[in-house]
Amino acid sequence: MMETYEGGCHCGRVRFRVQVDLAQTAIGECTCSICTKKGILHLAVPRERLEILSGADALTTYTFNTGTAKHTFCRHCGIHPFYNPRTDPQNYSVNARCLDAYDPQTMQPRRVFDGRDWEAAFARQSADRAAKR
Ligand SMILES: [Zn+2]
Repeated sequence: MMETYEGGCHCGRVRFRVQVDLAQTAIGECTCSICTKKGILHLAVPRERLEILSGADALTTYTFNTGTAKHTFCRHCGIHPFYNPRTDPQNYSVNARCLDAYDPQTMQPRRVFDGRDWEAAFARQSADRAAKR
């Protein structure tokens, strides 16, 4: 069931609201260099289902390698509540740990994206999705 969740960065300047069906959207973990260091738990959200409530002006963007992913974070507290991932740069990956309702008991990662080997992992993910259609 689609539900509404709010979340934000640590200092509270950046606040957002998302609509997501947690039963249908598996929380993921990525093994790439930055996701490992951030400790982000990925929750894929289409861009029309994420609303920035406040703090858009507090966000700044870090890019590296291909520059496709826009690693947005709060420039005051350094926390990454959501960003535009390289796998789907038009949409968002929300950091499930930044949801107000984050519950480590029920919001465990159920899939792993092997971002250390990004091209191969993306090819596998695309093939899996095509097979399910
Ligand atoms: Zn902040």
